[in-house]
Amino acid sequence: MDELDGGIRRVTLPLPNRPGHVHAYLLPGEGGWTIVDTGLGLPDARDRWAAELAALDGATVGRIVVTHFHPDHVGAASDLAELTGAPVSQGRVDYAQCALVWGGEDWGDVLVDWFRRHGVPPDVTDELIEQGSAYRPFVRYRPDPDLLDPGDVVEGWKAVAAPGHADGQLMLLREGVLIAADHLLGRISPTVGLWPASRPDPLGDYLDALRATIDLEPTLALPGHGEPLTDPVARAHELLAHHRERLEATVAALEGEPRTAYQVSFPLFGDDLKPSARRFAVAETLSHLERLVLEGGARRHETAGGVTYTAAQ
Ligand SMILES: [Zn+2]
Repeated sequence: MDELDGGIRRVTLPLPNRPGHVHAYLLPGEGGWTIVDTGLGLPDARDRWAAELAALDGATVGRIVVTHFHPDHVGAASDLAELTGAPVSQGRVDYAQCALVWGGEDWGDVLVDWFRRHGVPPDVTDELIEQGSAYRPFVRYRPDPDLLDPGDVVEGWKAVAAPGHADGQLMLLREGVLIAADHLLGRISPTVGLWPASRPDPLGDYLDALRATIDLEPTLALPGHGEPLTDPVARAHELLAHHRERLEATVAALEGEPRTAYQVSFPLFGDDLKPSARRFAVAETLSHLERLVLEGGARRHETAGGVTYTAAQ
């Protein structure tokens, strides 16, 4: 457990894949500690958390907040809730998606149809789905959490909407310090993908959320992965510029014949991707293609056979 400024503590938990770790943050308050995010529900997650909690010398954990439903953030929520007895808060929009993706049995089928419609060959689709369902045993979300909306205040921290990486992702802000979840990361650009049952324009949502972050003028951001960001406003500007470039590259990849998102993902993300990475590459290509459609830079063509895109001119 690391001590940060303002009495905030940070717990770093392991992930089997890149980026190899995820942070949880412990925020001090009158009602005890508020723990933000829980790590992946690996088999030893409970033991690991028990050891971390022992370092709090008996201080109470008053609340657990889940920023978004991705496995590395929500995965050990039930373990941590049982260990501490603390209630769990999760965004209203986010919890609905959490229950849809992790609570149902048929999500794999939804993804298979979705990837096929976007041009992924059947054998590759199978690999992509296997990779996705590999996380399922490690997600133990807390059913029926206290639902948060943007603007709600938790122990003095204000919930701030950060859609894009996940539709219902929430950050927490207090006195210029932003618990940023995966909205702002230092070295990597957070993935912004279009997925089934997600909002129609996640990249547009993300770019708007970056601009809103700049307006909030945070002075420090504590991200879900990587080191604290001492100039979050500058990082938000960099990410805006990055996606502007990626949109231009996406238009360039559309020259000529109609292309599926799967095909376009090759010039954008390269040929040598593992199935797990290709899955995100296709979803991220789609978020850029759909933004281009809305901006007038691309056209979408839907037939019974699937979806293709062309440049607009
Ligand atoms: Zn994450």
